Amino acid sequence: MNPSNYLKIKNQIPSNVNILAVSKGFKSQEIKTIQNIGQNDFGESKFQEAFEKQLKLKDLKQIKWHFIGRIQSNKVRKIVQNFKYIHSVDSFEKLQKISRISCEEKKNPFIMLQVKLSDDPSKGGFRPELLVSKWSQIQELKNITLKGLMTINPRGLSSKENSELFKKCRSLADSLQLQDCSMGMSGDWEEAIDSGSTWLRLGSLIFGDRS
Ligand SMILES: *Cc1c(COP(=O)(O)O)cnc(C)c1O
Repeated sequence: MNPSNYLKIKNQIPSNVNILAVSKGFKSQEIKTIQNIGQNDFGESKFQEAFEKQLKLKDLKQIKWHFIGRIQSNKVRKIVQNFKYIHSVDSFEKLQKISRISCEEKKNPFIMLQVKLSDDPSKGGFRPELLVSKWSQIQELKNITLKGLMTINPRGLSSKENSELFKKCRSLADSLQLQDCSMGMSGDWEEAIDSGSTWLRLGSLIFGDRS
């Protein structure tokens, strides 16, 4: 891992676009190195792996943890207790559960709702029509702060196809008056910026290849 990669990217992106450093598969020491040069938002996709790093890094109070992985129902409480942001809320039922548990835990996590904009069977998320039809019920849920939408594009798309899906996500977020779009990874972050991303989720581009 090479800190200058991080600084190079940081200097290329507009100031209204945030970097989420996706540290899954990397060690707490590597998180520390990046945190030391000014990165405070870190994303993890597996609860247990994340929790071990959170314990090791608990003295670094500036770190904000983001959960970006598939949410198992039996892990909701732990996720709510230990993460400020949840990017990967992929169904109304899970959102209801997060809301109920956040009330019990006196938390108020920042939420991104994952949307499914293509037919990729490996990706979950709200279908746009469903999201729109449930929107008034979603807005009534307590102890969650709806920040935006999240999407993961299928692999292997052309640059133009990536942009089209990202723009769909942006316009859906705009129509719901949501500020954030969590979109763009190491392979498609430039298209994501051009399409209105506010959170790039970057793993390998910052940390190097995962073994
Ligand atoms: C792993 C992961 C990323 C980062 O992927 P890279 O290609 O390493 O940048 C972003 N988002 C999600 C949901 C991930 O699981």
